Amino acid sequence: MVLDLHTPLTDFPGVGPARGKKLAKLGLTDVESLLTYYPRDYEDRRRSSAIRSAPEDVPVCVRAMVAAAPRLNRIRRGLELVKARVVDATGTADVTWFNQSWMKDALRPGEEYVFFGRLEGQGGRRRMTNPVLQRPGDEAVTGCILPVYPLTAGITNHLMVRLARQAVEACAERLPETLPQPVRREHRLAAAEWACRQAHFPDSFETLAVARRRLVFEELFYLSAGLALLRGRRTARKGWRMEPAPVDGYQRLLPYPLTGAQRQVMEDISGDMAGGRPMNRLVQGDVGSGKTAVAGYAAWMCAQNGGQTALMVPTELLAEQHFRSLSALLEPAGVRVGLLTGSLRPAEKKELHRAIAAGEVDLVIGTHALLSQGVRFPRLGLVVADEQHRFGVEQRALLAGKGEAGESPHILVMSATPIPRTLALIVYGDLDVSVIRELPPGRRPVATYLIGEDKRQRMYNFIRKLTGEGRQVYIVCPAVEEGAGDPLGPPLKAATAYAGELQRDVFPDLTVGCVHGRMKPRDKEAVMSAFARGELQVLVSTTVVEVGVDVPNAALMVVEDADRFGLSQLHQLRGRVGRGSWQSYCVLLTRNTGPETLSRLRAFTATTDGFRIAEEDLRLRGPGDFFGQRQHGLPQLKVASLAEDVELLREAQDAARALLAVDPELTRPEHRPVLERIRALFAEEADAFN
Ligand code: ADP
Ligand code: MG
Repeated sequence: MVLDLHTPLTDFPGVGPARGKKLAKLGLTDVESLLTYYPRDYEDRRRSSAIRSAPEDVPVCVRAMVAAAPRLNRIRRGLELVKARVVDATGTADVTWFNQSWMKDALRPGEEYVFFGRLEGQGGRRRMTNPVLQRPGDEAVTGCILPVYPLTAGITNHLMVRLARQAVEACAERLPETLPQPVRREHRLAAAEWACRQAHFPDSFETLAVARRRLVFEELFYLSAGLALLRGRRTARKGWRMEPAPVDGYQRLLPYPLTGAQRQVMEDISGDMAGGRPMNRLVQGDVGSGKTAVAGYAAWMCAQNGGQTALMVPTELLAEQHFRSLSALLEPAGVRVGLLTGSLRPAEKKELHRAIAAGEVDLVIGTHALLSQGVRFPRLGLVVADEQHRFGVEQRALLAGKGEAGESPHILVMSATPIPRTLALIVYGDLDVSVIRELPPGRRPVATYLIGEDKRQRMYNFIRKLTGEGRQVYIVCPAVEEGAGDPLGPPLKAATAYAGELQRDVFPDLTVGCVHGRMKPRDKEAVMSAFARGELQVLVSTTVVEVGVDVPNAALMVVEDADRFGLSQLHQLRGRVGRGSWQSYCVLLTRNTGPETLSRLRAFTATTDGFRIAEEDLRLRGPGDFFGQRQHGLPQLKVASLAEDVELLREAQDAARALLAVDPELTRPEHRPVLERIRALFAEEADAFN
């Protein structure tokens, strides 16, 4: 069979339509896809030994002769043993296979085979269980480093190894070298073909590391180059050149002095919006660092220039809250502020749409629907996305053409989930980043405790004490209704039932409210505003309070089944308290006593630095929490690990920038393969690259 990169896998012997379908589920359709389907692990099967001297604790290859015909024993239904005695010059081993009855016929007395497995017992008479068998003429499954592939039902590793071996042997040399020669030389990267061979069938773990380095670099390089290309195109576009607005003038509108960090970010923003290019800036600030005031500044500057601002937030609750604080702040300065939410009555909505289209509203606050609801902004100058990683590359690209006369509006993204720097470089690789690491003065760190079920009563007493002092309390549960979570474990605390129970049995004299994501927006809002007005003392909720809600009188955050939450999420929750001038507390309850869980949660109680927590979360849980379901619009990484390959990421980014510095649109013929790879990588966003 002659193979090329596009030979379908169904042409391989032993792969029929049924297996073909299963392989396709893994994304494997042709030789090329197979070559870039890398093992998830490797098994070292190189060590060989004589029977007598084999160590007990690691598997080894033993070359030995079958001494007598193997016997098959049917112990009972579902349990069959094949037993054989094998010998070499140093000793004897009794070999047993469980439920592999075909072994009986695979072995011939008097023949020599290689067995790979652990030898138990000592001396000249030892035991092996379920060893891997290598017959003469079989393809090598012993004496090598064996790749272990990600599998699916019906596809064995054995099959994968066989297919990969054929593909690598026939076609690795046909893989095009897409990395430019100077990049490879400068960063000491192995050739594509060699890296592919070694990634599948490494000669040693050292060569594997060299190969992996090339593949990781390559992946991060194309990703970085794609993002840098997007960024280059953006900065080549025209943006509304606005007159700068003095930060001191804005300060006069505020009841408190801005922090140095807030001022700095405002200067960054002012510079961007006055620069003649569309701003595309991310403001990263820990919870409570005062990002709303920063957004207010940007909207104020935009309004002074006769522009409209759309401020998008993820929930209606947050929209209401921003509306309250920003209209109080900006209306006195003549900025007209509107609130557009799904709970407006049709007539109100129509009127607001009209006012926006007539340019009678300067700042419109609403959920994401804001821009897609057919609302027309005749003078859109600025889009602010609060709390959102959900605001991905493609939405930003979509906005690019919405401004006046082909000018792209300025974009300001505000994130309260501190993202590890390395991730920010990827997730926001096409953005400029400002960081607020300073909290307003006078904030006392939230005292955080981790407790078990045995201290529940004391926690209730504490709630009673704080509410007695006039404070309010949040209690967050991982579920809305009973029955969620692991069916075998204890039921998770469920917001609705728990709230009822607390009101009835524990705090009959306090007012307990409940809010969760399945309630109608209007009802949610009613409960939240009752809490904000101080009419509720205890608010039981799901993570709907996670994002942005600001009730300064709340001084205690209790998190039930805290092990169910990621550290960054816990940090967000904790950020809901400690906003006033009194000491605030966060109590994590857990019924999970696993040492890893406890150490993770303890690490959380020991620091209040959101950036450190984010790094820790990344290390422990991987980038999923940051990337996860969020529509970041970025391609999936196949080989690189953002938690581990930080250094390589920096290198790849430098290389990508250097390349684009000499050839900004990658139009040179020698860079064509790079552009093609980028296109393929960002296939879902093809538009962005046309
Ligand atoms: P976040 O960055 O989490 O969005 P907010 O903008 O909600 O934070 O601000 C949190 C609280 O801090 C608000 O009550 C806000 O009025 C207050 N605040 C913001 N900036 C300052 C400041 N410079 N000094 C004092 N309080 C501030
Ligand atoms: Mg906020």
